[in-house]
Amino acid sequence: AEEALRQSQKLEAVGQLTGGVAHDFNNLLTIIRSSVDFLRRPDLPEERRGRYLAAVSETVDRAAKLTGQLLAFARRQALKPETLDVGARLRGVADLLDTVTGGRIRVVTQLPARPCFVRVDLSQFETALVNMAVNARDAMDGAGTLTLRLDCGVPLPPIRGHAGAAGPFAAVSLSDTGVGIAPEVLTHVFEPFFTTKEVGKGTGLGLSQVFGFAKQSGGDVAVESEPGRGTTFTLYLPEAEPGTAAADETAEGPAVEPG
Ligand code: ADP
Repeated sequence: AEEALRQSQKLEAVGQLTGGVAHDFNNLLTIIRSSVDFLRRPDLPEERRGRYLAAVSETVDRAAKLTGQLLAFARRQALKPETLDVGARLRGVADLLDTVTGGRIRVVTQLPARPCFVRVDLSQFETALVNMAVNARDAMDGAGTLTLRLDCGVPLPPIRGHAGAAGPFAAVSLSDTGVGIAPEVLTHVFEPFFTTKEVGKGTGLGLSQVFGFAKQSGGDVAVESEPGRGTTFTLYLPEAEPGTAAADETAEGPAVEPG
């Protein structure tokens, strides 16, 4: 449980870090913008021109350092798909979700008897589940039920105007009994930086990670919500052959780091 707590805190920190970097980067852009605006003035004294040029130069260096750090961070997150027994993973994740939700929220797990397999990056998969669970916790304000459910061998339904697919897909759904999402908000929830939370509380990046993960894994994510009653997010992931550990290592070779 201690390991689960440490892991969930680490995953929440990832979201905060990304949002924090975007915020810092915006501040730097603001400095550059206003310096350039001053530099455009034809009557600007020579001494001040030098100062603004130095500010632009220094700020560009700081921005480059920031993106360098972000890239170093992203590199460590190189996608490494592996074949997973989804049900077995969800059993482990339920523990993790207990710590994310704080224990006052009931976590219910509904798994099928027959196992099914997907080929995804495990840490991205767990991050996606934690991101959805953090939202569910925030929507429930301390009390409610979070249901983690798996259905195997289902088709991909048409989502956001895209045609569906026969599959088979593994459908992992997270349902909460929270405040729900108004229809005009629902269409924006997967957009990067879209948030309805207070400044400092939300980054608007949680669900874009979920969306990106689903798409990169050859699947999709759907959302259904009833204001006042609750929300269900469903991740559809293409099913894979069970495979073996050895096949895993030779199939795509070792994970290649970008850059
Ligand atoms: P963040 O949580 O930082 O705001 P997300 O991308 O994870 O960013 O979520 C975007 C928005 O979607 C949230 O601000 C919230 O308005 C809405 N949302 C997401 N999940 C839920 C949920 N389970 N119940 C109610 N609203 C939700």
